[in-house]
Amino acid sequence: MMSRQDAVTGRKGSNMIEARDLWKIYRIGEIEIPAVRGVSLSIPAGQFVTIMGPSGSGKSTFMHLIGCLDRCDRGQYFLGDSEITGLSRNARAQVRNRKIGFVFQNFNLLARTTAIDNVALPLAYQGLGRRDRRRRAVEMLERLGLGDRMLHHPNQLSGGQQQRVAIARALITEPFLLLADEPTGNLDSRTGVEIMALLQKLNRETGLTIVLVTHEANIAAFTERAVTFQDGRVTSDILNENVREASASAKPFDQSYDPFGTRSH
Ligand code: ADP
Ligand code: MG
Repeated sequence: MMSRQDAVTGRKGSNMIEARDLWKIYRIGEIEIPAVRGVSLSIPAGQFVTIMGPSGSGKSTFMHLIGCLDRCDRGQYFLGDSEITGLSRNARAQVRNRKIGFVFQNFNLLARTTAIDNVALPLAYQGLGRRDRRRRAVEMLERLGLGDRMLHHPNQLSGGQQQRVAIARALITEPFLLLADEPTGNLDSRTGVEIMALLQKLNRETGLTIVLVTHEANIAAFTERAVTFQDGRVTSDILNENVREASASAKPFDQSYDPFGTRSH
């Protein structure tokens, strides 16, 4: 059986991400803000990487570039076998919708919408019928341990549960790359570790490539590699020989449930 990374790239062990001397310069009137200044980085398919660095060091801007949300001013960017540099806005949106899932610090769920409908939404853009969309959303929520939270609205869920709904929504289109910008930033440390256990499991079981931004060193310890940014540049790139096992410190999800998120996790 071909693993997911083979299916994407056609080659084993090839890069999911290849950034060559990427630059992003924001312009506000006359002022130029070079947010990403010549970043070259290769991420093999199936790797789980963290991007670290102080606030303002260009982490989110870099995520926007590799997530095809924004285009670079200089350099070249390859995602799998496709060159992204120079693609139109529409073409980038297509790549994004088919290949990339996003998870954010503040979950970005629709407030007046149930967990099922939040998760099913990306499939609507793919033209799937309502019944199929809901069936797939139910399956995904069950996979992520949210089988008994399908009809809840975000404000009836704990932070950790909301982030799991957001992860389900990111995965529903079966992306090859998951980009997570401070996904544990709004969670207490125990819940953060639960989310890391889930991401570790997804990475190992499906070969999903994950790039995660964090400024917490204990979160980076759960991933294979830590790349540090400073002033828009990569200042260190370290392989973690001793990846911590998040599930060893996390409780299983079904023990962490509480009705309507009244407990503060
Ligand atoms: P980080 O995610 O590491 O905190 P960012 O990538 O958000 O850093 O920001 C890098 C630099 O670019 C900062 O100086 C920030 O103020 C600036 N910046 C970010 N987004 C914009 C924008 N849309 N317009 C202008 N400047 C921006
Ligand atoms: Mg940021």
